[in-house]
Amino acid sequence: MSRRTRFVDSDILIVGGGFGGCGAAYESRYWGRDLKIVLVEKANVDRSGAVAQGLSAINCYMGMQWGENQPEDFVRYTRGDLMGLVREDLVYDIARHVDATVHKFEEWGLPIIKNPETGRYLREGKWQIMIHGESYKPIVAEAARKSATEVYNRIMVTHLLMDKARPNRIAGAVGFNVRNGDFYVFRAKAVIVGAGGGSHIYRPRSVGEGMGRTWYAPWSTASAYGLLIPTGAKMTQMENRIVLARFKDGYGPVGAWFLLLKSHATNAAGEMYEADRFPEIKARVGNYADIQPMPTCLRNHAMIEEIKAGKGPIYMHTQHVLDTKEKEEIGWEDFLDMTIGQAVVWAAQNIDPKETPSELITSEPYVMGSHATCSGAWASGPEDCAPADYQWGYNRMTTVQGLFGAGDTIGGSAHKFSAGSFTEGRLAGKAAVRYVMDMKADAPQVDEAQMKNLEETVFKPLENYRVGRNEIVAGTVAPSYINPLQGLQRLEQLMDEYVGGYSMFYVTNEPLLNRGLELLGMLKEDFEHMGAEDLHQLQRAWELHHRILTAEAVARHTLFRRETRWPGYYYRADHPKLDDAEWHVFTASQYDAKTDEWHMTKLPVHHII
Ligand SMILES: Cc1cc2nc3c(=O)[nH]c(=O)nc-3n(C[C@H](O)[C@H](O)[C@H](O)COP(=O)(O)OP(=O)(O)OC[C@H]3O[C@@H](n4cnc5c(N)ncnc54)[C@H](O)[C@@H]3O)c2cc1C
Repeated sequence: MSRRTRFVDSDILIVGGGFGGCGAAYESRYWGRDLKIVLVEKANVDRSGAVAQGLSAINCYMGMQWGENQPEDFVRYTRGDLMGLVREDLVYDIARHVDATVHKFEEWGLPIIKNPETGRYLREGKWQIMIHGESYKPIVAEAARKSATEVYNRIMVTHLLMDKARPNRIAGAVGFNVRNGDFYVFRAKAVIVGAGGGSHIYRPRSVGEGMGRTWYAPWSTASAYGLLIPTGAKMTQMENRIVLARFKDGYGPVGAWFLLLKSHATNAAGEMYEADRFPEIKARVGNYADIQPMPTCLRNHAMIEEIKAGKGPIYMHTQHVLDTKEKEEIGWEDFLDMTIGQAVVWAAQNIDPKETPSELITSEPYVMGSHATCSGAWASGPEDCAPADYQWGYNRMTTVQGLFGAGDTIGGSAHKFSAGSFTEGRLAGKAAVRYVMDMKADAPQVDEAQMKNLEETVFKPLENYRVGRNEIVAGTVAPSYINPLQGLQRLEQLMDEYVGGYSMFYVTNEPLLNRGLELLGMLKEDFEHMGAEDLHQLQRAWELHHRILTAEAVARHTLFRRETRWPGYYYRADHPKLDDAEWHVFTASQYDAKTDEWHMTKLPVHHII
């Protein structure tokens, strides 16, 4: 195969055209009129990322124009839901700007449902508003496409490039075109990563040909972390993986059912198990049990305990609330807008939600920084409200000079969701423009040798396959290479069994984690012998690489935090209680690619609200 190398120079390079990336493109153009802004995306920005299929609600909107909520209220809510640990400066910064973002979405054509009695946006819950969101992503992507100087679709970014002279400074990224195999070298003064969190790090409940049916889309492959970790960027709260209580088998969202339609969940005997389990929860986590609304992880915990006690299935009583045609439509549309598979499950399993309840269950864990958990990079905060030790120059810049992030990439601030991730992209874009302007002519230099090495590394799986396939005498199992699916299944199994997946009821301990890390080490060795038969498999290989790096960060952070801070997300059986005296802190890691060592530390949690 003939392969070309293409060089693309820019002032600001945005990696990933999801909600964070689109916000970054839009805002960098606003402040940097003459700058060259390049957006690179492994799929197509019009239908990529977590919102590809659409959404039925925007989960982060204050409603300040009507005095519904203030940013301070949002900080209190987020802090409570995360059991006390959030970067309040970052959460506040998003909250104070997010309404303006939502108003832009409406201006760009997103249909937001109105409350006919008040004329305001129809609230699903205190923070959520309902939308007709099937086309949410293309509407938002259009603004980004018009803002960027160039958009490169179908380029899988595999590695970030570092400056030749200054080891802690970013210089760009490399990747390949998944359709024609061209190698791309993007040289940039600043890089904003918005490459999204990760599914399929843990073994999913769905198996065989159904394994792609997960809550978080299978194409979300943790590149936000897999790209950053090798640069030595400081990561935080990577143990804070998310488990979702969702409709069984289809992963349909529960928000509209609980909040808007006022449905309720019980065990098989019709008992309200959350209330019944309150004393046990209180004994585990103390006063955190009293937080209203009850933190997401604790609600999961009640459900998990109930299922373990043999009191399942857990039922959402949809049949009690669909008493009008309008409500029935809302129920179906909620799924058809964002999780069509759940409507298909209803049809396929003869479930009429007006007649029968539907089963709920907890999902496998995922790693992300913008939903009800906050894994990601340790970032500099806004200069007007971040405490001194939370800022080192530019808003949303990681600990690597010139490397910014948004959405799932940035850690410590949960509950951004779609609008908040876009808002964070805007904040990062604005700061990156300032960084580029301040830098003036002092552009980073890309090392020829580093680039050549990376090119060889990126395409090595194709070469491994080309040579190794000749050793196969029958079938597909090769003596000298593994393929990406085999690697993925090994990763999922070991994360599930050793790092607290669903088959272990999310329980782990120090010996399990240490064994898991040993097995991860072996998987990393075998990754060197990855074989890819075509460009599609080459993309799978590098996605797996990003997942493995992320998985290791999750395991190491889980080992480091010796407490059970978020029962319902995971349990350290050897430290079963929440321990505020020792662990009211953020966990942080820095990976040293030269020595393959991880350095773990604690970082302070400052309460500013
Ligand atoms: C199942 C689910 C349901 C949700 N429901 C809601 C909801 O109802 N309401 C709400 O407001 N929010 C919801 N969210 C949250 C919202 O979708 C996310 O907060 C938001 O999309 C995060 O933005 P992001 O830019 O970090 O990631 P994404 O939007 O996922 O974007 C990441 C982008 O990076 C690209 N990419 C990844 N890796 C690479 C690479 N190596 N090279 C190049 N490009 C790459 C991807 O293709 C993608 O376009 C939901 C999220 C999930 C997962």
